Amino acid sequence: MLLAAPRGYCAGVDRAVVAVEKALEHYGAPVYVRKQIVHNIHVVQTLEKRGAIFVEEVDEVPPGAHVVFSAHGVSPAVVQGAADRGLQAIDATCPLVTKVHREAVRFARDDFEILLIGHEGHEEVEGTAGEAPEHTTLVGSPDEADTVVVRDPDKVVWLSQTTLSVDETMETVNRLRARFPNLQDPPSDDICYATQNRQVAIKKVAKNADLVIVVGSANSSNSVRLVEVALEYGAKAAYRVDYAHEVKQEWLDGVNTVGVTSGASVPEVLVQDLLDELAGAGYGDVETVITAEEDLIFSLPKELRKDMTGKNDARALGGRRSGAE
Ligand code: SF4
Repeated sequence: MLLAAPRGYCAGVDRAVVAVEKALEHYGAPVYVRKQIVHNIHVVQTLEKRGAIFVEEVDEVPPGAHVVFSAHGVSPAVVQGAADRGLQAIDATCPLVTKVHREAVRFARDDFEILLIGHEGHEEVEGTAGEAPEHTTLVGSPDEADTVVVRDPDKVVWLSQTTLSVDETMETVNRLRARFPNLQDPPSDDICYATQNRQVAIKKVAKNADLVIVVGSANSSNSVRLVEVALEYGAKAAYRVDYAHEVKQEWLDGVNTVGVTSGASVPEVLVQDLLDELAGAGYGDVETVITAEEDLIFSLPKELRKDMTGKNDARALGGRRSGAE
């Protein structure tokens, strides 16, 4: 078994999950959360058991209640909707998503047309596009780069969702640039460090694996990308599971080496369950393939830090270290 590292929780997911836990401890249940706090069914169900109530929109939250915005970010319209309802909002948007929002605002102010590379309907894309809807056009794939229509080809910039395939995004950018040579790049990578690191690790694992299993939920963009990247980089087969018991016996037929990784929203306990399951099937010889070290931690949302001041709790100042559940 080849176990990819880094894998699992990133700093933004860790912060968002701890934010809900801390809100429940500090304000008491229920605490409302708009959308899944992170795209992992196990995380959502665990928080539900502790008293979190997940809603689709802020108009489902009783006036005056606490509501947490998810790690994927929200548009200004959602922030305004919560304020109009008198909600106590706690913004758990990942700081690396907020960075892309700021870029969108700045380029729109300078009258650029923003070609936002991302998946239609994904919450992060809705939030980022909502910062400058009049200036933003979504580009969903390399093929769409060939047909997108722009107002002024000399005043275009590309931005992207944080959890895309690095290779596919660069193909989209190259095809855009072939049509719009003056296309401007974002000031720094929009695809975040965690997405990039997990893709680099699985590329190294995949070339030596007959089978790759990715732990992650179906709506987790970076988990689904890990399956695609594993197949592109040499894995003979690759599957995604939420839980270890979803592994099918026939996947293992004729397989000598299994590669394992997990998406950025996946707690490590789910990976350990998979390792136990695979050890039982004869894949107990584990080699960890390390391609990067991560030690980034984000401080908790400012609303929480302010309310928790004086509680003398060190975790009021920051999230857990990445990798812990
Ligand atoms: S995947 Fe990246 S952008 Fe998304 S929460 Fe994690 S660190 Fe933030």
